[in-house]
Amino acid sequence: MANQTKSNMKALFTVQRKAKNEGKLVVQEKLKKCENCLFPAEKRCSGCCLVWYCSGECQKEHWKKHKESCKARRNGYLKLGMVVWQQMIFVFSSSSSNLVLRIRLPTSEDNPIILLLVNNKDMSMRGQVTDYKDPNGDLIKEAIKTKGHGGQYGFFNCILNGGELSVHPTVLPQADW
Ligand SMILES: [Zn+2]
Ligand SMILES: [Zn+2]
Repeated sequence: MANQTKSNMKALFTVQRKAKNEGKLVVQEKLKKCENCLFPAEKRCSGCCLVWYCSGECQKEHWKKHKESCKARRNGYLKLGMVVWQQMIFVFSSSSSNLVLRIRLPTSEDNPIILLLVNNKDMSMRGQVTDYKDPNGDLIKEAIKTKGHGGQYGFFNCILNGGELSVHPTVLPQADW
């Protein structure tokens, strides 16, 4: 009898653990869900880099609905001129990648020719925007001043394409780095 209770309890714990793990899986999959069929997705729209699809068929099917927002989103990105990357450990791929970067204004200790400083979370990518006549750079600067953290820095959605950086001027919620 005691043995049976034990094994029942064991079974119960196994079920609970399984449910917990499955819950985790669901959370992870939530991040990449096909815009069309809501199944887990691995392919990203190369236009806006913001939505995911499970297959080419789904992307095709969904294009009519997505077209306008894709275009608007893509056009919303501002290409920054003259980004000098300080660390080249990061391998620039020829295909575009979407990432969140932290962009800050220079302080009095930085070189006066620097307009903006850019880095990723683990600092494996660090860059300077040095073209002070870059109107897009000025727009990002303005966004940081008005909506960034303490008017000093902000997190932005960025598209990196072969070392060329485009930034969406919407300041993202504060991250912990
Ligand atoms: Zn799909
Ligand atoms: Zn798109």
